[in-house]
Amino acid sequence: MGFTAIKNILAGKYENQEVNVRGWIYRTRSSGKLAFITIRDSSGIIQVTIAKENVPAKDFESATKALIESSAAVKGVVAKDKRAPGGYELRAKSFEVTGNADVFPITEHQSEELLLDNRHLWIRSRELVNAMKVKASLLKYCREWFNENNFYEVTPPTITPSACEGGTTLFEFNYFDKKAYLSQSAQLYLEALIYSLERVWSLTPSFRAEKSKTRRHLAEYWHLEAEEAWVNHEENMKIQEKLISHVCQKLAKEDKDELVFFKREPGTLKNIEPPFERIKYESAVKILKDKGFNFNYGMDFGTKEESALCSDIEKPVFITNFPKTVKPFYMKEADEKTYLCADLLAPEGYGEIIGGSERETDYNKLVERMKEQNMNMKDYEWYLDLRKYGSVQHSGFGLGLERIIRWLCKLEHIRDAVPFPRTINRVYP
Ligand code: ATP
Ligand code: MG
Repeated sequence: MGFTAIKNILAGKYENQEVNVRGWIYRTRSSGKLAFITIRDSSGIIQVTIAKENVPAKDFESATKALIESSAAVKGVVAKDKRAPGGYELRAKSFEVTGNADVFPITEHQSEELLLDNRHLWIRSRELVNAMKVKASLLKYCREWFNENNFYEVTPPTITPSACEGGTTLFEFNYFDKKAYLSQSAQLYLEALIYSLERVWSLTPSFRAEKSKTRRHLAEYWHLEAEEAWVNHEENMKIQEKLISHVCQKLAKEDKDELVFFKREPGTLKNIEPPFERIKYESAVKILKDKGFNFNYGMDFGTKEESALCSDIEKPVFITNFPKTVKPFYMKEADEKTYLCADLLAPEGYGEIIGGSERETDYNKLVERMKEQNMNMKDYEWYLDLRKYGSVQHSGFGLGLERIIRWLCKLEHIRDAVPFPRTINRVYP
């Protein structure tokens, strides 16, 4: 007889049947001849009732002694019971403690620091388990969408000879006898790959030495990027709308329990359908001024400005046509002052989740811009080659998975969208 997932028992599929369950002790309490032990597995939590007279003597003894987070295998009969959390309980016939736990270092109401020091254990918590499940689903639905829309998944490098997003957040390291950098974005490599595959996407970690402490920046995050040949700025935004809408529809349908855990009403995600509003940066500046911000044309949005722009909206919104001074060198110009680019801001004040643009295709313009920014041309020769051998109109975008999770799961801090967060003051564990 195999093992049954707790979720399936709670779904009512096994009433009055004998099942085997294995997992970890979540809560435990006993009085005399009766022990109540809740067991969690990856799918759910169920109460196990152990009556001394129904199990072998050694089982009862080890069960009542076992501390929380001990692992256990149980055989028992499923009984409907309104008093039990989840509506079903397991009446044990045997209870084997398979791995005893020491006193668990995490109890209720711990400091954030202690939880982070014990992250390898805290990832067992319901908060993190549910966030990780939403992330796994998000990845599944993104992959699904790209597969259905003629994109090839590719595997760009994460060790690079130069910057993509500017030098201030670059992690440098010793690569044999040279300097190399951890990738900030796969974009430049994806641009090279469209000449082979036309529509490509990749999922890689991106590394950014973010020196300021915020609730939406990690030093290492998972970056989903796409690049599309023959696609302009507007079509690029349409691709993003469709992708985001697809994952929201799927999550609302398939992942209700996890969303509800985070108090995310699945219905709010069903409403996320194209088109998303487009607001030009210039108009956004006006909106901010009207809201009393001391913000002028040419400045970049910080957390407060972004939140102000997206706090009262229900669907994500594109802020387009940023001034050249606040964006990287590779974007195509819309006019003298601005680029054909867009940041997608999530609703409810969560801020930027995607950055995208049409890319500059003209060799001379790129060279000129790179010189203005004192970039080392030698490092980018290969990239400039792309404009020499069959340059085509193309666009792309990069989406921070943890940013989206933070929004979907209403997380206070982005670090809880990743199991082992890397931030300015933490690389352990
Ligand atoms: P921000 O202005 O918020 O720092 P950015 O303009 O630096 O973002 P891009 O370079 O456009 O961001 O990167 C693409 C996407 O990657 C962003 O839209 C965001 O979702 C995500 N992202 C960027 N930096 C981080 C980070 N440090 N931690 C987590 N996600 C990030
Ligand atoms: Mg940044």
